[in-house]
Amino acid sequence: MSEVLNVEEIFGSKVFTLGKMRERLPKSVYKEVKKIIDHGGELSLATADVVAKAMKDWAIENGATHYTHWFQPLTGITAEKHDAFVTHPDEYGKMIMEFSGKELIKGEPDASSFPSGGLRATFEARGYTAWDITSPAFLKEDATGVILCIPTAFCSYKGEALDKKTPLLRSMEAVSTQALRIVRLFGNTEATKVVASVGPEQEYFLVDRDKYLKREDLIFAGRTLFGAPAPKGQELEDHYFGTIRERIGSFMKDLNIELWKLGVTAKTQHNEVAPAQHELAPIYETANIAVDHNQLVMETMKKVAGRHGMTCLLHEKPFAGVNGSGKHNNWSLGTDNGVNLLDPGDTPNENIQFLLVLACILKAVDTHADLLRQSASDVGNDHRLGANEAPPAIISVFLGEQLEDVVKQLVETGDATHSIQGGKLLTGVSTLPDLDKDATDRNRTSPFAFTGNKFEFRMVGSADSIASPNTTLNAIVAEAFCEAADILEKADNFDIAVHDLIKKYLTEHQRIIFNGNGYSEEWVEEAARRGLPNIKSMVEASETLTTEKSIKLFEKFGIFTKAELESREEVLYETYSKTINIEALTMVDMAKKQYIPAVMEYTKTLADTVLAVKSAGADATVQTTVLKSISEKLAEAQAAETALEDKLAEAAGIEDPKKLAFFYKDVVHTAMDDLRAPVDALEMMVDKKVWPVPTYGDLIFEV
Ligand code: ADP
Ligand code: MG
Repeated sequence: MSEVLNVEEIFGSKVFTLGKMRERLPKSVYKEVKKIIDHGGELSLATADVVAKAMKDWAIENGATHYTHWFQPLTGITAEKHDAFVTHPDEYGKMIMEFSGKELIKGEPDASSFPSGGLRATFEARGYTAWDITSPAFLKEDATGVILCIPTAFCSYKGEALDKKTPLLRSMEAVSTQALRIVRLFGNTEATKVVASVGPEQEYFLVDRDKYLKREDLIFAGRTLFGAPAPKGQELEDHYFGTIRERIGSFMKDLNIELWKLGVTAKTQHNEVAPAQHELAPIYETANIAVDHNQLVMETMKKVAGRHGMTCLLHEKPFAGVNGSGKHNNWSLGTDNGVNLLDPGDTPNENIQFLLVLACILKAVDTHADLLRQSASDVGNDHRLGANEAPPAIISVFLGEQLEDVVKQLVETGDATHSIQGGKLLTGVSTLPDLDKDATDRNRTSPFAFTGNKFEFRMVGSADSIASPNTTLNAIVAEAFCEAADILEKADNFDIAVHDLIKKYLTEHQRIIFNGNGYSEEWVEEAARRGLPNIKSMVEASETLTTEKSIKLFEKFGIFTKAELESREEVLYETYSKTINIEALTMVDMAKKQYIPAVMEYTKTLADTVLAVKSAGADATVQTTVLKSISEKLAEAQAAETALEDKLAEAAGIEDPKKLAFFYKDVVHTAMDDLRAPVDALEMMVDKKVWPVPTYGDLIFEV
């Protein structure tokens, strides 16, 4: 028997939860904290001192020696600088561990080495971190000991956001304010805010650590840059939801325990489509906390994999030829008095508030499809989007049969009189229950799918922070709500006005609805006919941040200033160029030092064989033919390697960040593909014993 896990006890044991605050803080202080968490405001320094002391005492009781302001710079991952709780010893040499309210609320890391996209010159090093009271502090244990982590926002000396959290928090406030106007119109006077909730499903790969360490491409780029397909891929569909192997199972068990301790509600686990691919989904929570927790999920996956002799690959496309990884970002809006704005009820045709919300969301997504697509782009995701395994790069909305029918009724007749009902699913077996059927089937190929009481944004990359997609979603929906509320609050006859507005929005934006197969070539053509944008790459998507439309949107709701948007665009170009440059250099390195020498040696063995066979008086045609074709491919590889180096030298001469990014995408990338092809071909031609690195078969079938 394995030990019994007390999940209830483990859960949140490393988190300074509201419950712990309630236990440890004086009532009045607790109340002030709770009020600010729920409704915003600023903590007085005196109160912050009390909270800091309680937090520190709890942390020290649990072994902490240091604290850190944990933040999310534009690198897409998290950053931390540890400070010990130690203070000056007194005259007798005794040291007392301390932590003040000031230290809790504000930090001042040297910010000069984080990407800022020109917002801050290197000499303007000052950056500030500010406590995000809405996301609980937690303890992280690593080789350095136990660290109290305080989630913070990160901004420059001038107050510009240098991180992913600040705009997200701003967007949550914006969508709350505007959504509240909508629910008020429908008579909900109790609600005091509307919360964006997010549940991200995280996909990942696990590979054996020893094999990983033999591949420079995995080490430096997080993905394979070479590799011929294994004889078997995912075609038998035998991995998806398959039995979880022992080694993976014990990883998942440890992962869950670590996540539960951190207050992450790890709920669902299963094998994914590609061999060696898996998924974890937590229960949804406030967007801001979901973003923080998703960072912890990714970090913990990597840490725990190491303990099991494996490496966790979060890259969107670690292996060519099998599925890559994404993150399904489930998103909804709910009032603090329990109304999910995205819940249609059984008869959506009668649920006018829902129909207005839906119409606004369709309008938002159609109007800002480019921004939504941008929010899900990162370097790795370029390999997925539009590659027939992930949603296409074209944004469209799947509504399902029931809602599509309601929309159709509204657009065609101005009135929706009925809703298609789900009915019963007859199992045909007397001992099996007949099941209630949903009114709508699923569609796996849609980038933005309505799934009953939430939207599932499926484009997001597996390695990327989910802060940007949710910031964008909140922002565009806030704008649509605001425009609707501006009209409806002034209406003489609300019922007629809302009816007309829903019809108008649905009519104007129905082109964004698509319930068919998003992977098909016909859809690409159809989308073009409808005028929907098809932005093929991250580099092209980056430009959308600074269009007039985008600046107007983000400035209106105080989410990004123009300068912040410009800086982000620049950071994206830089990130792209640097990433592709690393990949290209890795390819050059592997080709020159591993593949080409290994094949040269093999050709020598073959040549010796040819001579030996000939001098023995036998026919050496086979040996000669093999030698000849391998030598030809080798020459091709050699030429492609030189060409790639030439292109990299050319890139080094381009200064403009945008031009450079386009050069990497259009020119360097092609040169990389040209090098990969002959090397992968050689892998299929030479003796496996001489191949210098583990193959796809070794990596994904032998974990
Ligand atoms: P599905 O099977 O439709 O993908 P699941 O129940 O497996 O749905 O949920 C997937 C993710 O969506 C989970 O993280 C879940 O917590 C989250 N989720 C469920 N309901 C909501 C909601 N109302 N808002 C946001 N996320 C939600
Ligand atoms: Mg799902």
